[in-house]
Amino acid sequence: MKVVKTISEVRDIISAQKKMGKSIALVPSMGFLHEGHGSLMNAARKESDFVVVSIFVNPTQFGENEDYSVYPRDLEKDTVFCESHGVDLVFAPEVEEMYSNPKISVKVVEISEMLCGKTRPIHFAGVCTVVSKLFNIVTPDYAYFGQKDAQQFYILQKMVQDLSFGVQLRRCPIIRESDGLAKSSRNVYLNSEERISALSLSKAIFTAQEKVKVGMQTAPILSEMKNIIEATPHTKIDYVEAVDLDTFRETDTIGKNTLFAMAVYVGKTRLIDNFILEEV
Ligand code: AMP
Repeated sequence: MKVVKTISEVRDIISAQKKMGKSIALVPSMGFLHEGHGSLMNAARKESDFVVVSIFVNPTQFGENEDYSVYPRDLEKDTVFCESHGVDLVFAPEVEEMYSNPKISVKVVEISEMLCGKTRPIHFAGVCTVVSKLFNIVTPDYAYFGQKDAQQFYILQKMVQDLSFGVQLRRCPIIRESDGLAKSSRNVYLNSEERISALSLSKAIFTAQEKVKVGMQTAPILSEMKNIIEATPHTKIDYVEAVDLDTFRETDTIGKNTLFAMAVYVGKTRLIDNFILEEV
């Protein structure tokens, strides 16, 4: 496995692989890797000849008062993690390599303004811009994203369609800790009391899934979800919503295309979780 920091090194390596007829997979990440990322690497390993993981804490997707400067980083540990998951190439650029006085921003309108977009207005444009660059640098056949960030996945799907990127996106299931908490690099911010409170998110998700199965409608399900979270110390709801996956607008009828999604502050840490009806 190689670790490189420049765009030109990636281009040279990828072009040699393509000349040999190899298919290329990309797993974009911000590092501080865990088994959620690992599951994306495993899926990529199964499907493609050459697996690239990018590790880049992308400043343009963080708002001014967000956690860019304190976001956890550990490239050495991440490199070992990638190697143990059969990755072929790690691309870990510095900020200057990715951005020198940029004048472009890629924005998918409307669906970027829903859910997380209300509290994080510049977030998805930052994500779309950096992922566009990564697609142009790595030119993957397949790119892997987690359903943990469901809104991000569907926004990127629309971006790929609208800008005619020649890459197929794969959505991989949410990987959880054994007690239900969705794995996240940000979980390290939680102190021991907050770590317990954070379980209210997955508890609300699992409860909602049960209620869907017995035919309960959206409004009472959302109330139950909110009650679970509000009854838990250290929590503050950003949103708990049921939306249609095509528009990300709120829906009160449940169908296969319905996404139940939430963002909750536990202490100062903002956590997200969700499920899609087609999986229940
Ligand atoms: P991040 O490093 O947080 O930007 O995440 C990189 C990729 O890993 C994104 O596509 C995330 O959706 C995915 N990911 C993060 N956490 C999980 C998880 N618990 N299960 C599955 N995928 C995840």
